[in-house]
Amino acid sequence: MSAYTIINPTNAKPVQDIHLADLFETDVAIEKADRAFQSWRHVSPGDRAKLLRKFAAIVEEHNEELAQLEVLNSGHTIGNARWEAGNVANVLNYYSAAPERLFGRQIPVPNGIDITFKEPLGVIGIIVPWNFPMPIAGWGFGPALAAGNTVVLKPAELTPLTAIRLGELALEAGIPEGVFNIIPGKGSVVGERFVSHPAVRKIVFTGSTSVGKHIMQGCSAQVKRLTLELGGKSANIIFGDADIEKAAAGAPGAVFDNAGQDCCARSRILVQRSVYDRFMELFETAVKAFRCEDPALETAEMGPLISATQLERVREFVPEGAEIAFQGNAPTGDGYWFPPTVLTPKNTEDRAYREEVFGPVVSVLPFTDEEDAIKIANDSEYGLSGSIWSRDIGRAVRVSRAVEAGNLSVNSNSSVRYWTPFGGYKQSGLGRELGPDALDAFTETKNVFFDTQN
Ligand code: NAD
Repeated sequence: MSAYTIINPTNAKPVQDIHLADLFETDVAIEKADRAFQSWRHVSPGDRAKLLRKFAAIVEEHNEELAQLEVLNSGHTIGNARWEAGNVANVLNYYSAAPERLFGRQIPVPNGIDITFKEPLGVIGIIVPWNFPMPIAGWGFGPALAAGNTVVLKPAELTPLTAIRLGELALEAGIPEGVFNIIPGKGSVVGERFVSHPAVRKIVFTGSTSVGKHIMQGCSAQVKRLTLELGGKSANIIFGDADIEKAAAGAPGAVFDNAGQDCCARSRILVQRSVYDRFMELFETAVKAFRCEDPALETAEMGPLISATQLERVREFVPEGAEIAFQGNAPTGDGYWFPPTVLTPKNTEDRAYREEVFGPVVSVLPFTDEEDAIKIANDSEYGLSGSIWSRDIGRAVRVSRAVEAGNLSVNSNSSVRYWTPFGGYKQSGLGRELGPDALDAFTETKNVFFDTQN
C-alpha cells in the first residue's frame, strides 16, 4: 500500500494523504470498466444524454466547492479555478447533445445499401497532468462517455483531489457504477498499465513531450488509438502597426496565467523592432502591476508554482546572476513562489528561449519584418498556440496561415473554447480535442453493405 501526501503549494503544508493504486487495483478497475461498457454502450441515446446533462448540472451546483479544492491542491487563483470547474460543466453539456447526433452516412452503392456507423471503442484510459486537472480531465471524459465508451482516468500524483470529487459527482448524477473510474496512482504503475492492458482501447494523454513519446511507443504494440496533447513554446507576435497598448496590457496574462504552467503560454514575445522600446516600456509597467499573491484572494492574477521540484526546474532557467530585463512581484516565505520574469536573450540559442520553462518566465526578441517574424516563430519543435497582433487584416491572415501551430488568436490571447478544436502541430501533439469533431477520436467508423438483390 503506498500513499502520496498532497501539499498545498501556497504554504507548503500537507493537506491529506491519498492512496495510490497498485497494479492489481488498476486491473480490477479496468476490468470493471470493461464490464460496464457492455451495458453503457446500449443505454439509449436519449437516456445517455440525460445522464450527461444531470452530471453537468451537479458539477455546476458544486462549482465553488470544486474551485476551492483546486485552490488548495494546485494553488490556482480562485477566479481561474471557478472557470475551470465551469469548463467541466460546459464540456459535459456540449457533448450531452452528441449521443442523439452520432450520425453515420448512407453512401450510394449499386445492388444494395451502404451505411456507416460510429461505434464506441470500449475502455478509454485518460492520463491527466497537474497543470489543469479539471479541464483536461473533462476534455477527455466528456466526449468519451457521450460516444458510449467507459473511462478509467488517472489524475497526476500531485493533483488528484478534484478528479476524485468529479468521480463521486458522476455517481450522484446517476452515471452507472464502473462507467467513470478515477484511479489515483503513479504514471509508472497506473499510466503504464493503461498502455499495456488490452481492454483499454485508447489512451488520451496530456503531459510532457518525453512521456508522450514513450506512451506512443507503448501503444504501437497493440496499435492502440492515441491522442496526445504535449508541450509548447508559443509565440506572441507583435507588429509595428498593432494596438501596442492592448498587446502590452495582455502580454503578462498570456504567459504568467497559472504561473506559466500552461502549455499555451506565450513564452516567446516577438516584437517588431520599430516598436520594441515602446512595447518594453508598457510591458514593464504591466508586469510590475501583475498581481502574484495568495490565490484565494479575489484579486489574485497568479499564484505559486505547483511544487518544490517545479520551483527548482524554473530556477534553473534563471540562475543566480542571470541577466534579467525586469521582474514583477511575488510573496516570499513558505510556498513555491517565483516572480513574473522577463528575459531579453541575445539570440535564439538561449535555453530559456528555446525550451518549455513551464513557469513565469518569458523571453522577448525583436524582429525586422513579416518574413523574419514567421521564420523565428516557426523555429521551434513545438506548435501549439500563439498570438498575432496587427491592424493590417491581410497581414493577420497571411501570418496566421504561415505560423505552424494548432491554435492561434489574432489581436487576442485566448486559445481555448470548448466548442472549437484544440491541439498541436509538430511535437506539441497528435489529434485534436474539443469542438464538433472530438467524437471521431472516440469512435470507430464501421461500414456495412446490405445486399438488396437476394
Ligand atoms: P508528465 O508527462 O510527467 O505527466 C503527465 C501525466 O502522465 C501524469 O499523470 C503522470 O503521472 C503520467 N505519467 C508519467 N509517466 C508516465 C508513464 N511512463 N506512463 C504513463 N503515464 C505516465 O507531465 P507533468 O509534469 O504532469 O505536466 C507538465 C507537462 O505537460 C509540460 O511539459 C506541459 O507542456 C505538458 N502539458 C501539455 C498540455 C497540452 O494540452 N498540450 C497540457 C498540459 C500540460
